[in-house]
Amino acid sequence: MKVILAKTAGFCFGVKRAVEKVYKSIESGEKIYTWGPIIHNEEVVRDLEEKGVTVLENEEDLESVKGGIIVIRSHGVSRRVKEKLESTGAKVVDATCPFVLKIHNLVEKAGKEGKRVVIIGNDGHPEVEGIKGWCVENSAGDPVVISEISEAEEADLGDIPLFIVAQTTFNTNKFKDIVEILSKKGYNSNAVDTICSATQERQSEAKKIAHEVAAQSGAMIVIGGRSSSNSRKLCEICRGECENTHFIQTLADLNLELPKSIPCVGITAGASTPDNIIEEVHNYVRGKF
Ligand code: SF4
Repeated sequence: MKVILAKTAGFCFGVKRAVEKVYKSIESGEKIYTWGPIIHNEEVVRDLEEKGVTVLENEEDLESVKGGIIVIRSHGVSRRVKEKLESTGAKVVDATCPFVLKIHNLVEKAGKEGKRVVIIGNDGHPEVEGIKGWCVENSAGDPVVISEISEAEEADLGDIPLFIVAQTTFNTNKFKDIVEILSKKGYNSNAVDTICSATQERQSEAKKIAHEVAAQSGAMIVIGGRSSSNSRKLCEICRGECENTHFIQTLADLNLELPKSIPCVGITAGASTPDNIIEEVHNYVRGKF
């Protein structure tokens, strides 16, 4: 049986950098906090907790912070939250991915120019919440978040010039479709594709592998955290090509009822999946079938 492991599976640059910053901070011997789980992966978060790292879930949790180091994860935070973290007296280590920081700068500038910011992404996702928090208040109104084609079709955004950005992990084709719909509706808009190349590469490789696997009546495995938006999107893309796609968090979730004669299995993983979990699944599949 052929097993195709995606070259782009696993930690992206931004997540790797953030996780490394936490492990590096632990070496200081100070009390370490992360603002939210450092990545959407329960295994890694558990390991850090065992090493004494505390996850701060909300602003009330900040009351318990007495010095130490707070690490901001790769998703970034709003300006207000950043200032709030700094006001605790703890040292703030900002591990916001540089690609996300770029979006913060873009929306801030657009707001100052009087434009209304449209974020194509999932409302409520920490990265989107962070981006919203760098939009400058102006007469153009609050930033708008659009995640679905139907929302773009129904949106009433007024006569103000729009400045459109994307959540870094958004689906590229869907982003283009939404931008096109807004443009056809006659909005004066400027769109910057801020989808990260790591995501694009991961998505197109996954699509290619899923297509190849489906053509051979094989199966596709996507490994990622349940709350990882990029992993779920990866799964959606793979399912579009290969119905026999399985979404798992670790090897323990893998309950494949596949015939021994299955000719081909493809494996990919989201940006927050550690190498050891990918390796475990890869070895299991190679040995089992
Ligand atoms: S997916 Fe891209 S933008 Fe997001 S953390 Fe990774 S490298 Fe940064």
